[in-house]
Amino acid sequence: MNTNKVKARALGLCSGGLDSMLSGLVLRQQSIEVEWVTFETPFFNAAKARKASKMTGIPLTVKPIYPVYIKMLKNPPAGYGKYMNPCMDCHALMFRLAGEIMRQRKFDFLFSGEVLGQRPMSQNKTSLRYVEKHSGFDGYIVRPLSGKNLPQTIPEKEGLIDREMLLDIKGRGRKDQIKLAAEFGIKDYPAPAGGCLLTDKGYTNRLRDLFEHQKNCTEAELHLLKCGRHYRLNPETKLIVGRTAQDNENILKYHNPARDIVIDVKDYPSPIALIPHGAEKDTIMLAASICTGHSKAPRLAPVDVLVKKAKKKETLKVIALQPDDVRKLMIN
Ligand code: SF4
Repeated sequence: MNTNKVKARALGLCSGGLDSMLSGLVLRQQSIEVEWVTFETPFFNAAKARKASKMTGIPLTVKPIYPVYIKMLKNPPAGYGKYMNPCMDCHALMFRLAGEIMRQRKFDFLFSGEVLGQRPMSQNKTSLRYVEKHSGFDGYIVRPLSGKNLPQTIPEKEGLIDREMLLDIKGRGRKDQIKLAAEFGIKDYPAPAGGCLLTDKGYTNRLRDLFEHQKNCTEAELHLLKCGRHYRLNPETKLIVGRTAQDNENILKYHNPARDIVIDVKDYPSPIALIPHGAEKDTIMLAASICTGHSKAPRLAPVDVLVKKAKKKETLKVIALQPDDVRKLMIN
């Protein structure tokens, strides 16, 4: 871009979806220099945004935000959507953090690919307004794809944006965006939605269980919620049993060796099982029996199971408990 002609500098939120891409390109068409920021937590990552940045040439900053995000997630003022997705407060937080970067790096305004009426709960006029008000950057958030349907923003009033070049897309249809993508020569873009674990039923059941039983949790523990089967053995203790080789790898990757107990059946192919934060002897026996039930060890015969914590190793003898018999302990 010829910087002599740059009218303004804008920083956008990028999810990596088509609407994000189009919002940046629509602004770039009117000689506005655009950059993106995207945020990472254990619930969503920057993979799609990185692809979008590569495809469009729009520079991207990736920022991990776990500590501030988890605080909001535990008590979102506007509540959750269908599962544990606090979409309105999530957007408000993202715009607040983007706004701080805007101030530091002297961008003129913020933007996103939100489309009025596309998501009934989180993208209607009231919720877009909520996000603006609670972001702390009221008046500085431009939604280029629906700009003509929304109140005039400060950069429009200041003449930094030509309102006539903003679009008036609204609703759930994708026709306008697909046509626009073709005009910009974008052929390869991800399907809308998806990618946020806070909208996933299974994941959020495990997350809710964790919040109910544990005051604080680490980022690694939230990654562990993505792996294997989870059992609630008692209010203090849960058990994670790998389902696949990848699960087993991730359980070992994210566990805390100083604090957690790792269980592995000796002499037979077996999943890795984990008791985060450890447990009393009888609960460890129960966990080892459940793990054995998921292994190739014989049924109804004592089996040796290796139990490791920190540098200590111990072998226990247990009888396998069949998955059907412990199904009621599962967190689904
Ligand atoms: S789907 Fe997830 S990432 Fe997207 S706004 Fe909702 S909570 Fe935030």
